[in-house]
Amino acid sequence: MESFVTTGLVLRETRYKESDRILTILTPDQGVISASAKSSLRLKNKLFSACGLFCYSEFTLMPGKNMFNVLEAENLHMFHGISSSIEGMSLAMYLAEMAAALSPANQEADKELRLLLNCLYMISEQKADLRVIKAVFELRTMSECGFMPQLLCCKSCGAYDGSGFYFDVQEGYLLCENCAARENKRGGLDAGALFALRHICLVEDKRIFGFRISAASLTRLSAVAERYALTHLDKPLKSYDFLKSVLP
Ligand SMILES: [Zn+2]
Repeated sequence: MESFVTTGLVLRETRYKESDRILTILTPDQGVISASAKSSLRLKNKLFSACGLFCYSEFTLMPGKNMFNVLEAENLHMFHGISSSIEGMSLAMYLAEMAAALSPANQEADKELRLLLNCLYMISEQKADLRVIKAVFELRTMSECGFMPQLLCCKSCGAYDGSGFYFDVQEGYLLCENCAARENKRGGLDAGALFALRHICLVEDKRIFGFRISAASLTRLSAVAERYALTHLDKPLKSYDFLKSVLP
């Protein structure tokens, strides 16, 4: 077996033995992989600085029996600002756990990696409200991992805009206020939240954070985004309760 080189983002690090770590890494070509980084917790070890949580690094990996072994690692980017706030750190942990749980493969892995790097950058540099970053990640990651919602118009009558739109988190479709009322459903989206929902799911990558939203609309968007993401995951995320305690 031969070693190979890949970039990747460390989603999780688990210490074992004295100074070894097992890493969960999101890579653009292989998806989410596990790799053992021997002695990487020793300060003078060559792997020390490139194998930490949220390190974006270039890894040289050797396939092993149960997982890969990290032979070399060179850090490409460190998101220093993430650990400067407990809210930012908690959100980063939540996003990373969601990415690991979804475990995207093929082109989806590459897109997921770019989205996550973008969101970690926004957290680290404090470029956006943390609740905006959370909603963007939840909606976009689901859209790209096989759960693209139908956002064009009301599924029943074709209405395009208005306030009081209802978004079905299970099936991923919209109903306008009137059609929702007929089905005894109450719309949770105002016009601002509906605009943001469409923007996040449909716009090209680099413009994904290019929208403004009022505090009231963000509250509505956040509720829908979170329920949409968590509904489509197989199991609850461990990081969720703590995140909600610091970022309600
Ligand atoms: Zn309708």
